[in-house]
Amino acid sequence: MPNIIFMGPAGSGKGAQAAMLSKELNIPTISTGLLLRDKAKVDNKIGHEISEIINRGDLVSDELMFDVLKKRIEMKDCENGYILDGFPRTKQQALILDEYLEKKNSFIDAVVVLDVPDDIVIKRISGRFQCARCGTVYSKYFKKTKIDGVCDNCGSVEFSVRADDVDVRLIVNRLDIYKNMSKSIIDYYNKKSLIYFINGVNSIDKIYQDIKNILIK
Ligand code: AMP
Repeated sequence: MPNIIFMGPAGSGKGAQAAMLSKELNIPTISTGLLLRDKAKVDNKIGHEISEIINRGDLVSDELMFDVLKKRIEMKDCENGYILDGFPRTKQQALILDEYLEKKNSFIDAVVVLDVPDDIVIKRISGRFQCARCGTVYSKYFKKTKIDGVCDNCGSVEFSVRADDVDVRLIVNRLDIYKNMSKSIIDYYNKKSLIYFINGVNSIDKIYQDIKNILIK
């Protein structure tokens, strides 16, 4: 019953790696960014608030974030484990999660940290786009669709770019937040001997192999 956390800056490839591992282990990936973007689409007060925060590249409050995450973790498909992509983003979130898991006699098994230098991350994010139907993520520079303008996964011809990926200043803001916050989270899990660093600059397949070598023994 593995509960795995993927960490890394936006554009580190954690979403793509988590999706591959999800398939192999048959457990869901929970992307907190995706959960929040869904909430932001709803035309109500909380939807507008979340939308503003995401579009600034800032973090939503720990309380709201955990409220949303808890509801997702408690769904039936998470019974055999899950992968968290984008959570925790603060040490407080890590503490809240652990406190919650302890009560349920559950715990985090591993924290995978994808290391990628800033310049590569900025290039990756600024070329990022996704299928408007199934959400598969592509990159103008690193991962194009096999047939130009057609999604490899579902065949849709409609694509979109995330609002917070358009402006380089917003991308840099998100990277700064990651750098400021991730140190204490990594220290926290390191003390529990749960941290595994992975070089996120290699090819998608090589990174995946490195992750599997660590997690699937
Ligand atoms: P992501 O898709 O992981 O890049 O997240 C997109 C945006 O959602 C972030 O820039 C934050 O505004 C928000 N977000 C995602 N996860 C969290 C979290 N764990 N805590 C607070 N805000 C989050």
